[in-house]
Formats: sequence, structure tokens, C-alpha cells
Amino acid sequence: MKTKTFEDLIKEIHEKGICQECGGCVSFCSSAEYDVIGFKDAYKPPVYVNKDKCLECGICYCICPQTHILDAELNEMYNFSDYASMPIGNYEDIYSCQATDERFLEFGTDGGVVNTIIYFLIDEGIVDGAIVSKTEAPFSREATFADTKEDLLKASGAKLDITPQLNEIQKFSTYTHSIPELNHYKFKKLAVVGTPCQLYTIACMRDLGVTPSQNIEICLGLFCYENFFFEKSQIKKFEKDFNIKFKDILKINIKEDVIFTLKGGTTGERMIHVPFNHLQPYMRPACNACADFTNIYSDISFGGLGSPEKYTTVIPRTEKGKEIFKKVLNRGLIKSLELDKSRKEKMRDIITNFSLNKVKRRDEFMKKIES
Ligand SMILES: Cc1cc2nc3c(=O)[nH]c(=O)nc-3n(C[C@H](O)[C@H](O)[C@H](O)COP(=O)(O)OP(=O)(O)OC[C@H]3O[C@@H](n4cnc5c(N)ncnc54)[C@H](O)[C@@H]3O)c2cc1C
Ligand code: SF4
Ligand code: SF4
Ligand code: SF4
Repeated sequence: MKTKTFEDLIKEIHEKGICQECGGCVSFCSSAEYDVIGFKDAYKPPVYVNKDKCLECGICYCICPQTHILDAELNEMYNFSDYASMPIGNYEDIYSCQATDERFLEFGTDGGVVNTIIYFLIDEGIVDGAIVSKTEAPFSREATFADTKEDLLKASGAKLDITPQLNEIQKFSTYTHSIPELNHYKFKKLAVVGTPCQLYTIACMRDLGVTPSQNIEICLGLFCYENFFFEKSQIKKFEKDFNIKFKDILKINIKEDVIFTLKGGTTGERMIHVPFNHLQPYMRPACNACADFTNIYSDISFGGLGSPEKYTTVIPRTEKGKEIFKKVLNRGLIKSLELDKSRKEKMRDIITNFSLNKVKRRDEFMKKIES
């Protein structure tokens, strides 16, 4: 059978409108030094730049999160069978945790657990640093390398930075281009934080032995129901729809709905809850084609859903993930809520519902575009 290449990615992925623009194909192209493929527009799929230099090796096709060519191998590696029998992936137990360090908790998106674990890994010399994402502006984040506590706090989810240039910026996306960042840290031992699509690409790289996947010590996976994208005109619509100003958004939390913490009110802050379906016009279109909510190919998964305010839901998955989670817990760097059986079942059920809804959304969308 002929090896599928970037030509096939264009036909099967780009032309169907399901490219995540993750940059995996561009960053890890076997002939990258010749710029065979590249991004012409940051918010559009990559294109051929020097097609004649393509080696037709098929790496780009295999690591693309939308081709699912390696699913069978990855499922074996991560002990996953299918969403019907394992809607939230392979796991033994589920926890609701919080950082005990005041600053990680204060700056954390939920319980500040992800950054606490990264800090532990750096402190213990298990990794040199982590690829994380720092806030650039409301609904806009940028991939960055963090190797100190201050770096991690800057990359935390709390106060969103309102830049004075807000009006000059035309487009915003909550999606972070973390995968290309890996290329800059080929010789460092890394932790990577990412959404399911990003960690899927890394799992494929690990499976194929693509550099620098051998230096990635641990993948910390965030739950993700969808990401958002705004053109300038949509910002105006968003402000009108929800009667809020973009510049007043201090923080975003995601649980059963999307919770915006805004400037104002008697305490200086107020919160509004927006159901996911009201945010449909702002969703990145390619997210419709994504089925993984809980990050099944991560070492440990984290989310807001299922836990109370200022707590993070934690699902350790691989042996390495379980070992690191236990160490961080035993050192007292995070604390875990004592949850009885029925409380754990409730958490599992609510996360299962979101997972199955996401699978259904993907199936209906794929049926539509393939008919
Ligand atoms: C785009 C996105 C969508 C999400 N969707 C859901 C959801 O639908 N349901 C749900 O329950 N939880 C969702 N989460 C996860 C949730 O918002 C928290 O990130 C998670 O609970 C961890 O909280 P924490 O306080 O322990 O993390 P923290 O200790 O605050 O650490 C968070 C880490 O994530 C990194 N990070 C932030 N944004 C990104 C990004 N875009 N890409 C890569 N890394 C990033 C930060 O740099 C930081 O290192 C989503 C997160 C993101 C980024
Ligand atoms: S050289 Fe390989 S990875 Fe690069 S575009 Fe061609 S087929 Fe894809
Ligand atoms: S690897 Fe990423 S950028 Fe490349 S085609 Fe696939 S989704 Fe798009
Ligand atoms: S919904 Fe899927 S494709 Fe969209 S950002 Fe989240 S993990 Fe990636």
C-alpha cells in the first residue's frame, strides 16, 4: 500500500476543515530543514512550501491527531479499549486535590495541582523543566518553557493579563501551540502539559520514536471539551451576547459550564456561568471532530469537572503517573479530599457524561461531513 503523506493530510484533514493547526506535522517533518511544509497564516492549516523536498516518509500523516492511524498501538500502550466500555479511559481511582502551597493555590486555575507536580519534578531533578502555557491576553495563551517556581506561577491560570493593546489584536484563541515548542528543547528532560489533541501527537511521536519524544518524562493531560477562537467581530458579539467586557475577564474556570470571574460587584469580583452550548459560535470548528475529553493518553489527567471550587480532579493513569502522584501526595505538597464511595461514583458519572457527549458530538459531526 502507498505510504500516505502530507498530500493525504490536505485531502483528508485540511479540506474537511478538521485540522487542529497543532503544528505537529510541520515541526516533526523528516525533511524539516528544507521547509517542506509550513504555516502561511497562524490560524489556517499548514501548506506545502518546498514540495519537491518531501521524502514521502509518512511521519506527518502518522502523528497527526486527526488521522488516528496509530490508535490500535496507542490503545495497547495505554490499556484503553474503546469509549463505550471505558468512557474516561484507563484508571484505578479518581481524586479531588488541592495544592498546599498558598501561591500555587492562589494562582492555580483550579486547585493548583498541575503546577505543584511540575515543581516537584523540577525540584527532584526528574525533569529540567516543562512546556506550559502562559496567559498573553484574555482568551489568548502562548507556549513557554518553565524551570522555576516563578515561571510556573506566571504560567498559572489565575489572573488573565489584560494587555493595553487589546484593541489592536485581531484574533484570539484559547488553544496553545505547544507542540512546535518541543523542537527548541530537544536536549532537556521535559514534562509537557497539554490538551488531549496535543498529547495524542506526543503519544504518536513516542510510539514512532520521533525526537525529542524520548526526553519527555511525563505528560500531564488537561480535560478538554472544546477550545475557543475569536475574530475581532466575534469579540463584539461575545460582549453583546453576555453583556460583559472582554477586558473585565479575570479568570476562566471550566466545570459543568464555563465560569467567568469578572471585575466588579461588591467584593471587587463577580462570576457568571455560561453553558457550553451558548458558546458554540466561538468554538474552534476542528474541536467538533475530537472525541477525547479526559486525555486518555496522558500519564495523569486533570480537570475542574467533578471537584468543588479550588480543587482539581485528578486521574492517575500510567504506572509512572501513579508513582509521581503518590510521591507528591505523601510529601504533603497536595492534599486530597476524603471522598466516600458514592461521592466518587458521582464524580465518575458526571465525567463519563461529558466524555460520552463529546464522543456523540464527534460521531454526528463526522457523519455530517462525510455524507
Ligand atoms: C483549553 C483548556 C480547556 C479545558 N477544558 C476543560 C473542560 O472542559 N473541563 C474540565 O473539567 N477542565 C478543563 N480544563 C482543565 C482545567 O481548566 C484546569 O487546567 C485543570 O483543572 C488543572 O487545574 P490546576 O489548578 O490543577 O492547574 P494549574 O496548577 O493552574 O496548572 C495549569 C497548567 O496548565 C497549563 N495550561 C494552561 N492552559 C493551557 C493550554 N491551553 N495548553 C496547554 N497548557 C495549558 C498552565 O501553563 C499550567 O502549567 C481545560 C483546560 C484548558 C487549558
Ligand atoms: S518529508 Fe515526510 S513528514 Fe515531511 S511532508 Fe513529506 S511525508 Fe510529511
Ligand atoms: S498534524 Fe496538526 S497541523 Fe498538521 S494536519 Fe494534523 S492537525 Fe493539522
Ligand atoms: S476539543 Fe479536542 S481538538 Fe479541541 S482543543 Fe480540546 S483536545 Fe484539542
